[in-house]
Amino acid sequence: MKVQTLPPIDGNYNLQDYEQAKQNFDWSEIEKQFSWHETGKVNMAYEAIDRHAENPDKQNQVALHYLDGSRKEEYTFADMKKYTNKAANVMKEAGIEKGDRVFIFMSRSPELYFALLGAIKVGAIVGPLFEAFMEGAVRDRLEDSEAKALVTTPQLVERVPFDDLPNLETVFIHGGVDDEKGGFLDFDARLQQAGSDFEPEWVDREDGLILHYTSGSTGKPKGVYHVHNAMIQHYQTAKWVLDLKDGDVYWCTADPGWVTGTSYGIFGPWLAGVTNVVRGGRFSAQDWYDTLDRYNVSVWYSAPTAFRMLMSAGDELVKEYDLSSLRHILSVGEPLNPEVVRWGEKAFNLRIHDTWWMTETGAMMICNYPAMTIKAGSMGKPIPGVYGAIVDDQGNELPPNRMGNLAIKPTWPAMMRAIWNRKEKFDSYFELNGWYVSGDSAYMDEDGYFWFQGRVDDVIMTAGERVGPFEVESKLVEHPAVGEAGVIGKPDPVRGEIIKAFVALREGYEASDELKEEIQNFVKKELAGHVAPKEIEFRKSLPKTRSGKIMRRVLKAWELDLPTGDLSTMED
Ligand code: ATP
Ligand code: MG
Repeated sequence: MKVQTLPPIDGNYNLQDYEQAKQNFDWSEIEKQFSWHETGKVNMAYEAIDRHAENPDKQNQVALHYLDGSRKEEYTFADMKKYTNKAANVMKEAGIEKGDRVFIFMSRSPELYFALLGAIKVGAIVGPLFEAFMEGAVRDRLEDSEAKALVTTPQLVERVPFDDLPNLETVFIHGGVDDEKGGFLDFDARLQQAGSDFEPEWVDREDGLILHYTSGSTGKPKGVYHVHNAMIQHYQTAKWVLDLKDGDVYWCTADPGWVTGTSYGIFGPWLAGVTNVVRGGRFSAQDWYDTLDRYNVSVWYSAPTAFRMLMSAGDELVKEYDLSSLRHILSVGEPLNPEVVRWGEKAFNLRIHDTWWMTETGAMMICNYPAMTIKAGSMGKPIPGVYGAIVDDQGNELPPNRMGNLAIKPTWPAMMRAIWNRKEKFDSYFELNGWYVSGDSAYMDEDGYFWFQGRVDDVIMTAGERVGPFEVESKLVEHPAVGEAGVIGKPDPVRGEIIKAFVALREGYEASDELKEEIQNFVKKELAGHVAPKEIEFRKSLPKTRSGKIMRRVLKAWELDLPTGDLSTMED
């Protein structure tokens, strides 16, 4: 259990240690902490749940606090072992085997977590879906992956086009089914009857764990395939970056339909053995503050869109809650505006730590460490064991302060192993001299901090200048009237593109031409004349993915009257 190359995770972690850790870093040292290191036979669910349930000091600790409008429950690690074993038995009895794709299509509930981990115990590859998916989105994913089984609810099963899915043999219903009529299996009844013992299927580290269809900010969803080996990085980043320690109560607000909701809503925190909070239901500022307060959450992982909504809810509300347990706040999924970091300091007396990674990377890559000096607006630095760089379109590394492709040197433990059924798509990530090219545009400053500029496709060319939309958006949200902003390049005969901003106003502000001009002048004065939006359009809200990302391609399609493409992941 001893790891020599890493500094202790005791809250005294400092930048010197970080630089040192980077120098002689070796992932294989981390592996030695896992029980499977010697045998090579592994199961994520065992490491995340059973290992703690077998530890007398841990077994009675709450693993899961679950809360929504109608349920409030808690499960210890021993309970989690029992229920995930039961779920595994239910699946095994129904004929599910190693390598089968088992999809989970339901809203958050304890049963979602039992089913997902139970399927992993059987050795199946799980595919979590957002509850909001409609028929077309469900079909695309189940068809592409040739899913064999599905766990869903009476409401959502209506959206499953069975006629198009010949491989789908088994459908479990959670939440009531009459006498298993029509061939549907009653998940709850079976769970209750199933035995509580189960020997996990011991798989190889390179065997399949999860298939995440990405949120689709940029087009057709792709099945990103991950293996059990990813746990090494989930675990290590949970310690380093989430800073999880014994006694922590941790809340990740992401739904498991999005990679953050599995890597850091399930695997990371439970590998680290902390108490995990899951809140079902939609966003509500009151409910969210209440959750932090009620469970004494110490570490909180959320997304810029949520922080912006809390910010819009006003400074008075947050004062009504006791949030003194909070020690560490993190963000992912979208660029974190400096304005939001400053608000966080005011509201929580804590800095919000940005983290950058992707479904494809499987785990955190570029982050702000707990003790790192935060440069507001920067994503931080690559974690030890990850080499990040900015490269040009030929794959040459660029010097500091030059905008280019954010790229990573392969490989790292949690890296995707395939895009399901699409080898050429997978290969296309590595076309630039073997770099993994993220599709994001960024620069690195002379201190090694990375600054996100936008997705490569979203970068605007105006009058010969490359402008990242993020910088403009961040300035826009600094204006007191602006709640959210999405910026695109609009074709222009003279300038190539002009900058157009879509703006959702904060509560209490009215759209007007004067306000438009005021906002334009604000950006002009604070940033630069050439990046001030030439056009501003006010919208009640901006098109977003379920995971809270502004869909700039949809804004662009609206603007140009083009087809909007796949909208399955768009929030309603
Ligand atoms: P698709 O690839 O299907 O279009 P997506 O890229 O939105 O969907 P994800 O894998 O969930 O799906 O998101 C990864 C992307 O999110 C990154 O490539 C980046 O553009 C953005 N992102 C994630 N974290 C950050 C961050 N901290 N700062 C800026 N952008 C971020
Ligand atoms: Mg992507």
